[in-house]
Amino acid sequence: MLSRDIFIEEMTWPEVKEKLEAGYDTVIVMAGSIEQHGPHLPTKMDAHSGEVLAKLFAERLGNTLVAPIIRPGCSEHHMYFPGSMTLRKEVFQDVVRDYVDNMYRHGFKKIILATTHGGNFEPMYELVPELKEKYEPKGVKIIDILDFDDFVVAQNSILEEFDLTEEEAGVHSGGSETSFLMASEPESVRTDKLARGYVGKFDAEFDHKLHTEGMQSVTDIGVLGDATKASKEFGEKLIDALADYYVRKAKEAL
Ligand SMILES: [Zn+2]
Repeated sequence: MLSRDIFIEEMTWPEVKEKLEAGYDTVIVMAGSIEQHGPHLPTKMDAHSGEVLAKLFAERLGNTLVAPIIRPGCSEHHMYFPGSMTLRKEVFQDVVRDYVDNMYRHGFKKIILATTHGGNFEPMYELVPELKEKYEPKGVKIIDILDFDDFVVAQNSILEEFDLTEEEAGVHSGGSETSFLMASEPESVRTDKLARGYVGKFDAEFDHKLHTEGMQSVTDIGVLGDATKASKEFGEKLIDALADYYVRKAKEAL
């Protein structure tokens, strides 16, 4: 069960009311995804990492609750692989709009938008001007932590210590994400299926191919990075570094 002190969905309405009255004026709207994560990680990976990171983020920031994690996201480029789900961009954006509106109606004064899934960054970021225009005159601050490059830099900031290259750490079910789950929920990692996927450059050309032809055009197992390089120790450090990254970005914006 998720923490009852942090996750709105685990709380009763009087408990949420009590928190609001006690000065919990900030809420995190975190979007994950349900999509293939190679032969060794479950499809919930990004929704799970969103939960783990949002919890630490809220605890470290203080006076903060977490809205239910948005579980499916924008994952069209994974649909070749069974079990993947995707929301149409306009549906996803409407879900985010309604989340923000719900949080505003309950009296939260700072609403933080973040995501653990690459495909959600742009659709969420596109909404920011509109949300600011709508809610800031009502006294609500919209804070976005939606810079994908920044997120990857934070993720890669600890690689040296662990003898992983950026390509091995990868951005999808590679060394980094596999390590994350080894640390947060090891029983969910299929350790007998760890594999090395695409370990080439993540440049613009690669990105274009990925998003126009799908993930299967660059890796037939759905892995960007090398899962065999993963470790629990790296995962623990990674989770800590990413939670700190969110807190730093939020504090800069507050
Ligand atoms: Zn992922």
